[in-house]
Amino acid sequence: MFEDFTSEIMSYPGGEKITACMQCGTCTGSCPTSHAMQYTPRKLISLIRANQKDTVLKSLDIWKCASCYSCTTRCPRGIKFTDIMYILKNLAWKEQTKKENKDITGFYSAFQGLIEKRGRMNETELIMKYSFQTNPAKLLEFAPLGMKMIIKGRAAFIAPKVRNQDQLQKIMKLAQERGGE
Ligand code: SF4
Ligand code: SF4
Repeated sequence: MFEDFTSEIMSYPGGEKITACMQCGTCTGSCPTSHAMQYTPRKLISLIRANQKDTVLKSLDIWKCASCYSCTTRCPRGIKFTDIMYILKNLAWKEQTKKENKDITGFYSAFQGLIEKRGRMNETELIMKYSFQTNPAKLLEFAPLGMKMIIKGRAAFIAPKVRNQDQLQKIMKLAQERGGE
């Protein structure tokens, strides 16, 4: 058990330096998705240090991270905020999100299912699976954009599988053994 949420985050690789944050806001200023967040990277760090675990893990903002690493490369204190976002996503997935947000679980299970099956992404299949798992009416919303992408060759109905399926399955098994669901 951990003394508090800050200690819990610090126990994971990438979270060690979180107490060094000086709230300069460089991470938020560099983040391409912060405009869409209620709690920006700087605020999320502040909430973690205030041990507001529930607020942080229930926040949809942690799922808006695009993993661009701008915050990590620019932080003057060497805080790996991208890694912290992954820690938060993992904890949220295990502890909160399954109950709180079907949209997120639907999207991530569809994504994982495709990677396990093919070893690569296919946007058409992803949107179809995601819509069926959450709300099939969404297909009508996505269909016009999907058709345009297919016509322009930016998406395909069925993506090819990676050649070495045995190796893919070994990688998936290893990832699951190391704690991924
Ligand atoms: S850039 Fe680094 S030090 Fe500045 S607020 Fe973000 S995490 Fe904290
Ligand atoms: S890695 Fe995530 S949190 Fe950091 S700047 Fe990029 S999108 Fe924002």
